[in-house]
Amino acid sequence: MEELLSGQSDPDEKRCARQRIEELRSLIRKYDYAYYVQAQPLISDRDYDRLFSELVELEQRYPDLVTPDSPTQRVGGQPLEEFAHVQHRTPMLSLANTYTRQEVLDFDRRIRHALGHETYQYCCELKYDGVAVSLRYEGGRFVLGATRGDGTVGDDITANLRTIRSLPLVAQPVTVENVVLSDFEVRGEVYMLRRDFEQLNRQRIIEGEKPFANPRNLTAGTLKLLDPRQVAQRPLQLVCYYFDSDQVRLRRQSSNLELLGAMGFPTSPHWRLCATIKEVFAFIDEWETRRRKLPFDIDGIVVKLDDLEQQRRLGTVARSPRWAIAYKYEAEQARTILKDIVLQVGRTGVVTPVAELEPVFLAGSTVSRATLHNAAFIEQLDVRIGDTVYVEKGGEVIPKIVGVDLDARPADSKPWQMPSYCPCPHRSRLHRPAGEVNYYCESPACPWQIRRRIEHFASRDAMDIEGLGEKVVAELVEAGFLETIADIYDLASKRDQLVGRPGWGTKRVENLLAAIDASKAQPFHRVLYALGIRHVGEVTAKLLAEHFGSLDALCRATMDELQAIPEIGPRIADSICTFCYDPEERQLIARLRKAGLAFSAERQSTQSQQPLAGKTFVFTGELDSMTRTQAEELVESLGGRATSSVSKSTSYVVVGHMPGSKFTKAQQLGIPILSERDFLELLRTHGVTI
Ligand code: NAD
Repeated sequence: MEELLSGQSDPDEKRCARQRIEELRSLIRKYDYAYYVQAQPLISDRDYDRLFSELVELEQRYPDLVTPDSPTQRVGGQPLEEFAHVQHRTPMLSLANTYTRQEVLDFDRRIRHALGHETYQYCCELKYDGVAVSLRYEGGRFVLGATRGDGTVGDDITANLRTIRSLPLVAQPVTVENVVLSDFEVRGEVYMLRRDFEQLNRQRIIEGEKPFANPRNLTAGTLKLLDPRQVAQRPLQLVCYYFDSDQVRLRRQSSNLELLGAMGFPTSPHWRLCATIKEVFAFIDEWETRRRKLPFDIDGIVVKLDDLEQQRRLGTVARSPRWAIAYKYEAEQARTILKDIVLQVGRTGVVTPVAELEPVFLAGSTVSRATLHNAAFIEQLDVRIGDTVYVEKGGEVIPKIVGVDLDARPADSKPWQMPSYCPCPHRSRLHRPAGEVNYYCESPACPWQIRRRIEHFASRDAMDIEGLGEKVVAELVEAGFLETIADIYDLASKRDQLVGRPGWGTKRVENLLAAIDASKAQPFHRVLYALGIRHVGEVTAKLLAEHFGSLDALCRATMDELQAIPEIGPRIADSICTFCYDPEERQLIARLRKAGLAFSAERQSTQSQQPLAGKTFVFTGELDSMTRTQAEELVESLGGRATSSVSKSTSYVVVGHMPGSKFTKAQQLGIPILSERDFLELLRTHGVTI
């Protein structure tokens, strides 16, 4: 109030405020349009939120300047013309946002004040960074799905939502207070896994389309597609957090979450009831780090009053409920200057442009390099040396450039061009195979390639040779001990030369040699992956090993035979044939064979006597006690098979946290479902204890 008076007492100040308010509104409208309608944001969320709170503060200081069309008075989106419009029964609101703990404390103080002496608790949930949707069910069936739109009216995207595998088209009948719940509304968030996002974005770049900035924007763009068949090809995920029905009066948000789970809706297992604000902060802190391990993005924590009656009494303000607040984590995004673009050569000769950045602090570490993927990506984003760029860290991957601030571009900047020669000492010409986005250094003697290839061969998911990491490989290549991957197995004969090198005592050498020796026991599919055949990743290597059983059989296969496997396209088939016919590779393989590496899956032929022989397992969701790869390897070590999709012939589906559509499919097909505990018990009965 006193601020209001001070505003009135200084007409100049008020004039300035009016001007700034207008400016902010027009900027926010422009950014809203780009974000909600075009799904192509122009600025970072943090910068947007800063502008938005500046507007909120100014409007609080000068309430007479608030107009009903101000962005602070309404939810940002708007329904699109192409879709039928849906009126929401209860408005779909936004959430009050904060990046500071103080505001969470203020929120708690307001709640305490409003509720007098009543006790209360909070239901804390992850804030999935996706797109809000409303799902209407009648007679237990999914009948209508809509976007939030402007909060009152959204788009009818029922057909698109139907393509989401985890969305139950028919809910499980659940009885509450003697009523079978059949008519209700569920709300949730549609989102995308980071892995799927990266893959789809790569595809877009190949097709010459502008990449999406993050999984959220790709999800929003997907839900706006007019052809549901296209939507069906994009792996969208759903998580639900709201339930409302005239049939029953429910009491708690936490019971709603449990109810949703019982009705077959995908819900997050990561929520917690907190009796004090201290417990709320503990939850926030815990997820600040844990969130990096999630396969999808969350941008904060939602703190909701758990008691729905208390929620009703507190009500809403213009665009958000009073009973909830979103604490947002600092986006893992930073703004910095792109000083240079240099080329890095990978193990298969692929040449990746890398951004050299003005060092900037981002999510716990200083970042001075970021990947730019390939020349097409640079061209699409039109990134230039000298630009101010946005850098992001998604999960644990290397930071990447996600956007350019065009307003800050120097006047004399020029588009970047891919150099014609490899920067390695051999300076061989760079070559881009038809239909590919990547350029390759074609010189097999390129020392950079050699190092990468050896590093890959020894890496954990390949031959897993402990002690042969990046630094040691660099040293041994430099000193002339290693020129090819096969030289690794000759190191034992150079024991004496190794001992006595600076930093290398007998014990260190013996440890390394023992690790090298142990790697000879790796199964064929790992050896195949370790060879570093272009486009043959871990999954493809497993598939090929399973299908052909040996390298000889694989190399005998024709292009057609290779492509008869559904997952193998012409690109992979061609790369395998090129590899198999390359005389240098053949020589290497002969040496590796002599060293005793497994080039066939024979070892697995004794499987029929093993305890899990004939059993097929599918894993879905995160496990607590091990990674998915470890679980699959355990199954295989007991003679079973681990596959990636559920079919009638699947023996068991093991379900961890956040299971995907495989869980639903398993239920539909009636496949036995094992919890992580059941799975561990099964392993235990076969003598494997974790
Ligand atoms: P919001 O994303 O900050 O929060 C509200 C939304 O959170 C809900 O609508 C719901 O979709 C979601 N949500 C996720 N998990 C939830 C859970 N467990 N319980 C309840 N809700 C959950 O608000 P908004 O209105 O969707 O978007 C505004 C934000 O979007 C801004 O604060 C800004 O960060 C961003 N934005 C950015 C730009 C830009 O140009 N970069 C433009 C507009 C908006």
